[in-house]
Amino acid sequence: MPDSLALAWLMLPLGVALGWYLCRRWPKPQEQTGKSPSQYPAGFAQTARQDSDQAIAALIGQTGTDDQTVELHLTLGTLFRKCGEVDRALRLHESLLMRTGLSPAHRNRARFELAQDFHSAGVMDRAEALFKQLVGQGMFLQPALESLVTLYEQAYDWRQALETARQLEAVKGVSLRPLIGHYYCELSEAARQREDATEALRLAGRALSEHAGCVRASLLQGALHEASGQPAAAVKSYRRVPEQDARFIGEVLIPLQRCYEKLHSPAAYREFLEEAEELWVSPAVVLARAQMMQKEHQDPGAYLMERLQRQPQWRGLDLLLQSATESSSTLAPLYKGLRDALRAVMEKRPGYDCQQCGFRPMALFWQCPSCRQWGTVVPLNEL
Ligand SMILES: [Zn+2]
Repeated sequence: MPDSLALAWLMLPLGVALGWYLCRRWPKPQEQTGKSPSQYPAGFAQTARQDSDQAIAALIGQTGTDDQTVELHLTLGTLFRKCGEVDRALRLHESLLMRTGLSPAHRNRARFELAQDFHSAGVMDRAEALFKQLVGQGMFLQPALESLVTLYEQAYDWRQALETARQLEAVKGVSLRPLIGHYYCELSEAARQREDATEALRLAGRALSEHAGCVRASLLQGALHEASGQPAAAVKSYRRVPEQDARFIGEVLIPLQRCYEKLHSPAAYREFLEEAEELWVSPAVVLARAQMMQKEHQDPGAYLMERLQRQPQWRGLDLLLQSATESSSTLAPLYKGLRDALRAVMEKRPGYDCQQCGFRPMALFWQCPSCRQWGTVVPLNEL
């Protein structure tokens, strides 16, 4: 990976720096006065360049607690961890913490580094205990809380993630309501999986009271109402989605159509689509209207031609070609070929787009699998 490679290259000059530092710190045998030769080995600088394991072992063995020595240990440990050498980072930081005479500031910093080492190594209980200890002492408060939030997310411990996010919100002084809304949605999903629909609904409601713009909670509520045979309540939840974020309107069109069918009111669905087209520019709505015309045995060709000139889109073009195929027998083979080519292109097109890192998945994720940010994946703009 490029980052690891860059850090590996960073280690090279660091080794040289370590050698230079040790040359200064540890004088040659003839210059030593009152020091044990075994404590300050001759030629250490060269060893540091040639055999980093041996150099680290010697470094761990020495007990200096002055600023320069401790800073060097801490820097080396951080670099080891970032290079993926977590074992070495752990050894360095543990040896540092065992020293007597370490200043409180350095001790806390070493604890924070060690907690990150344990986190990277997957030793979650040790990492959690150290981060909590630092939080309890008010040290490294924000980074320790951020690490704890990440740790609880990795463990799918949404309750703890939620409580820690509230603490973090207070420390940072910024709203983390959208994140807290997602944690409530996670808890709601878990309740739904264990078939506790009442609790799932309650938690989806909590998500909305934390973050009124939580699209995910509205979708969840809609699905839960639908599953419990309450299409009217489901319609109310689904219709909230485009008002919260118009980019997600495509996510509710099929569920809404389904619910209106259950309510025996296709006209209400048609009215919703007409209203939606006036309110929001959405290729999905144009497509849904055209599909509804087809279903009602009307030719959507003229409607699509007019809309596609203003808002060209792949799926609408596919539907237009289908309409054209049905109305012209002589050009039908040509239109079919075009549709096949178009569909091949569409199948490879991702459906969603992370606004944070640019990752484009085929399915909707509430936490981006690439950058791990919440709520940054949105439907890809078809236009
Ligand atoms: Zn991302």
